[in-house]
Amino acid sequence: MVEVPAAETAEPTAADWAAAVAAVHGLPAGGTVLLVCHVNPDGDALGSMLGMALGLRRLGITQLQATFPGATAGSGDDGYAGPPEVPEPFRWLPGLDLLVPAADAYPAPDLFLCFDAASASRLGGLADRLGTAGAAVVLDHHASNTRFGGIHLVDPGAAATSVVAEGLLNRLEVPLDAEIAQCLYVALATDTGSFRFDMTTPAVHEMAARLIATGISPGVISRRIFDTRPFGAVRLYGDVLQRAKLEPEAAGGVGLVWTYATLDDLARHGQKPYVLEALIDSVRCAAEADVSCVVKQAGPGEWAVSMRSKGAVDVSRVAVALGGGGHRLAAGFTGRGSVDDVIGSIRAELRGA
Ligand code: AMP
Ligand code: MN
Ligand code: MN
Repeated sequence: MVEVPAAETAEPTAADWAAAVAAVHGLPAGGTVLLVCHVNPDGDALGSMLGMALGLRRLGITQLQATFPGATAGSGDDGYAGPPEVPEPFRWLPGLDLLVPAADAYPAPDLFLCFDAASASRLGGLADRLGTAGAAVVLDHHASNTRFGGIHLVDPGAAATSVVAEGLLNRLEVPLDAEIAQCLYVALATDTGSFRFDMTTPAVHEMAARLIATGISPGVISRRIFDTRPFGAVRLYGDVLQRAKLEPEAAGGVGLVWTYATLDDLARHGQKPYVLEALIDSVRCAAEADVSCVVKQAGPGEWAVSMRSKGAVDVSRVAVALGGGGHRLAAGFTGRGSVDDVIGSIRAELRGA
């Protein structure tokens, strides 16, 4: 029998929830709250953070900031004033007005909450607030969570960090409204792959029902976050899928399918990096491979790697071995060197999987 360490499976205890509630209730008058989500935020990171921020605003907390590593000031030129690092599909989310550039974030907030980050490194330079804040609450659902921070609301059984966020809002007696619900729904829909993945439990659908009951429109939200991208991105996908490679012998014979996209590819089609987030979904459908992988250039010799498994391989083990993290069926890491170097390191780890 495989022994799973308690920390990897345990839900937050009653004492953990009570500590988080006490940290909010214990804020001094005019106390400052900083909410941070992981670098290159996805729908769960942004949605759970903004949903919680709106909930705290409903409690009458006014000194509130939300940010993420790399967030800068928006120009407002295109009618959108927020950080340009927020992917376009999420630029309509309620609560974006609470976002500040990372450089302007409270240096020593009374309360620090972080979202969807499995390790402190995912918070970039903002991780220093773990030391300077009055209290630090970690809301997350990664089995690979390193248990950084003071108060742990980490539930590896939760489909999204927004499940944990709803749990805290509920205990703070903040009623769901349509704005909070939009944020939490985006997070839930993102991390369950539109309610398709295995962790789509009855509890997930019950939460979705509570959110939809506030009057939000799942059809409008899904179209915005899943089914809308620039025409240039459609053409870019063509190029990148064209060069996909299938290695049926890899991963002990269950197979690997992979491709890569460079900054040149993005520039050629006039596209921003976020458009590549959904690329893995087009690659992973190859029936001949259990493991799929997309290697996305982030800078010279630096690659953001997305990995998926259909069940035969634990890709989070591979990602953790290569310095990243994630879940059994979806994980990632930062690769260095050439595409061949990165794929070579994955192949080697898969051999041992
Ligand atoms: P993605 O492929 O970017 O959708 O990420 C899949 C999963 O892997 C998510 O749960 C991420 O949190 C995790 N992940 C991706 N990149 C990294 C990284 N560099 N370090 C730690 N975890 C990561
Ligand atoms: Mn995430
Ligand atoms: Mn998540």
